Amino acid sequence: MSFHLPPSALDWQAKVRAFVDEELIPWEIEAEMNGGEIPPDVAARHERIAIGLGLSRMDVPVAYGGLAAPVLDQVVAAEQIGRVTNALGWCYPEAQGWMFEACSADQLERFVLPMMRGERHFCYAITEEGAGSNVDDIVATARRDGGDYVIDAVKWHVTSANLADTILVQAKMAEGRNAGTHGLFFVEADATGISTVRNPAYSHTYRHHHPILRFDGVRVPAANLIGREGEGMDFTYAWFRRERLMIAARACGAAERLIEEARAFAATRVVGGVPIAEHQLVQAMLADSVVDLHAARLVTYEAAAAHDRGLDVKALHARCSIAKLLASEAAGRIADRAVQIFGGRGYMRENVAERFLRELRVDRIWEGTSEIQRLIIANGLMKRGLAGTIGAS
Ligand SMILES: Cc1cc2nc3c(=O)[nH]c(=O)nc-3n(C[C@H](O)[C@H](O)[C@H](O)COP(=O)(O)OP(=O)(O)OC[C@H]3O[C@@H](n4cnc5c(N)ncnc54)[C@H](O)[C@@H]3O)c2cc1C
Repeated sequence: MSFHLPPSALDWQAKVRAFVDEELIPWEIEAEMNGGEIPPDVAARHERIAIGLGLSRMDVPVAYGGLAAPVLDQVVAAEQIGRVTNALGWCYPEAQGWMFEACSADQLERFVLPMMRGERHFCYAITEEGAGSNVDDIVATARRDGGDYVIDAVKWHVTSANLADTILVQAKMAEGRNAGTHGLFFVEADATGISTVRNPAYSHTYRHHHPILRFDGVRVPAANLIGREGEGMDFTYAWFRRERLMIAARACGAAERLIEEARAFAATRVVGGVPIAEHQLVQAMLADSVVDLHAARLVTYEAAAAHDRGLDVKALHARCSIAKLLASEAAGRIADRAVQIFGGRGYMRENVAERFLRELRVDRIWEGTSEIQRLIIANGLMKRGLAGTIGAS
């Protein structure tokens, strides 16, 4: 099966690729050597260009000033963003389609549309010390008190919290008839009672940190509850679906860059009088990488196209898991082979393969580990059968 991208997707591919090549990739080594940081004026320029391209509003309905781009176009754009290391591609906030179904007009005005314009930056706090793979194990609570909710929680690995002014926090209702159900809240990052417990170092070198945050009796206006009490998980599943698909897309982009770089190196690196590309064991590593990428990309594009065809949401959930599982595992293998092809140079932090080897590892962990994706796929198979999971042949 080959996949013909429509003109709109090819257009996104070309313009985001040019942005990544000309503006972002040149800053990778500077970021790697400086704890993820690049000069603030450069970071601001990157955000300005990304927003100017329309990346922050691809998933936004036209009525709100968005582009309502097909999911396939969004995946193709994300794939290009994945070609750059050090998360330099995470240079713009993004308003997501599900928010326009879930949020009140007031929330759209105060939080979501400012994200689309780059005036607000958000992070998502679900995971806790005792609750990762099983979100229902969270012990964070939200207690209603007059016109407010009062949130108590300790959230782990809160990505981008150091750059965010808005935190989406998931908690369980502490009391009342919805006690024990989930709620999702917009919380201002400077609200009284929020503190950083610790800011651990991780394998990659990003300016986006993942601190542990404490919420100690944090008062949030009741108007900041997204949807109703008990609906929190629905929105988090919508978030997971989108993020899993976009992780798959970015993994494909990383894999493409790795193969291109390894191919160029193999064609010019001479060992024993011949380019290493002539050694069949090196050819095998390149060939296996091409096969891995081809499969991952086709499945990712097809999952995106299934969204655009309006496939049932439960089937889409499994499709996103399939894409994430396949693409993240494939990209990990490709990065490992690329390091091997580069030899000693592949172990230097200035080498793209070394950086991707570390950076891609987390794609098999976050937004649900590979094991959790397998459980979702198996669950879909048992409930909806093979055709209901991957479509009829
Ligand atoms: C860099 C980074 C950034 C992150 N950013 C965020 C963020 O912004 N917001 C947020 O809320 N979270 C974030 N996370 C958390 C991430 O989503 C979790 O780490 C992930 O879901 C796994 O949870 P856990 O670490 O608690 O592992 P655990 O749930 O403790 O799992 C440990 C191991 O057990 C396996 N396991 C668990 N249950 C099963 C099962 N039923 N069957 C088989 N195997 C199982 C897992 O696959 C894993 O291998 C981030 C994590 C990292 C590393």
